[in-house]
Amino acid sequence: MSLRKSILLTAFVFLAPLYGCADNKISENTDIAVSRDVFAMDTYMNMKVYGSDAEAALDEAEKRIYDLENELSATSETSDIWAINNADGKDVAVCADTSVLIKKAVEMGDITHGALDITVFPILKEWGFTTGEYHIPDETRLEALLSKVDYRSINIDGNNVSIPEDAKIDLGALAKGYTGDEIVDIFREHGIGSAIISLGGNVQAIGSKPDGSGWKVAVRDPYYPEKDMCVVEIKDRAVITSGNYERFFIGDNGNKYWHIIDPDDGRPADNGFVSVTVIGSNGLICDCLSTALFVAGRDKYDAITSEFNGYDYIFVTDDEKIIYTEGLADTFQNISSMTAEVITDD
Ligand code: ADP
Ligand code: MG
Repeated sequence: MSLRKSILLTAFVFLAPLYGCADNKISENTDIAVSRDVFAMDTYMNMKVYGSDAEAALDEAEKRIYDLENELSATSETSDIWAINNADGKDVAVCADTSVLIKKAVEMGDITHGALDITVFPILKEWGFTTGEYHIPDETRLEALLSKVDYRSINIDGNNVSIPEDAKIDLGALAKGYTGDEIVDIFREHGIGSAIISLGGNVQAIGSKPDGSGWKVAVRDPYYPEKDMCVVEIKDRAVITSGNYERFFIGDNGNKYWHIIDPDDGRPADNGFVSVTVIGSNGLICDCLSTALFVAGRDKYDAITSEFNGYDYIFVTDDEKIIYTEGLADTFQNISSMTAEVITDD
């Protein structure tokens, strides 16, 4: 599913005319976009950049994406994560990105009351989400695996990381958000003031469109994933979605099972939301929150969102309603057949 998900990119970006710029070379005219497609982290990525140093910025960003993929992939045998997962409990010296991300994941584990737990990996594997060989695990097997799930058992000492034997971690819930932030930093270093990055379901914007208006970003309809559900306008923010349509299978019993796991019971999180979009300046936090709020669900999300200032949210409920925060009200455009209401404090 994630390939398809990635093809159906959510950003619609209204580009300035390309003036027949077939070879992508740009001159002083910073109104011309240079675009680059990259396939990495199991995702089709696209970056569109305005600025005179765009090609160099894109080259550096592309290299950074591949480097991060090599360090962070749980399924690549040369990654830091693979090394940690196969160290039989011993310390592993990891690169700075890996230790920064694991530290952040543990901190966000605390803030989200365990909804974000990067040690759910053995459970994801058991359901087949890492290979596509899906099956519904039996209860005793899930219970045995659950006994190893606890992000608090991760040990970080500088750049040395260890986890208990039998535990395994994966950074799938936050790696793309971090990657987006890193690309944004690279672009800024190259003096880029206007760019839009789409990493599968994650969109990150630098500045506004060259004409000064906000970037229009569409969010997909979890009930009709080939369609868009709403459009919001952003400047200098990320729009990051977790949904139950991104990677899933239908069991022999006809039920749908998806890739966001509730660490409480080892089953796909089913707590009232079918999609959660987080909009804010920090992609890494947005990505952690999109997964965690999906898990926390309708009853518990506000205990988490109250810890964060300056973030906006769009939730789609399992009874087909859209609810979103006040901060989006000025630009929010509902293009679905669902009702959409602003969340009020009551
Ligand atoms: P996507 O990667 O599809 O954009 P998410 O950001 O929500 O969506 O990340 C989902 C991924 O996070 C899963 O594929 C898995 O690797 C991991 N994951 C699933 N459940 C959890 C959880 N409760 N805590 C931390 N990571 C999780
Ligand atoms: Mg996420």
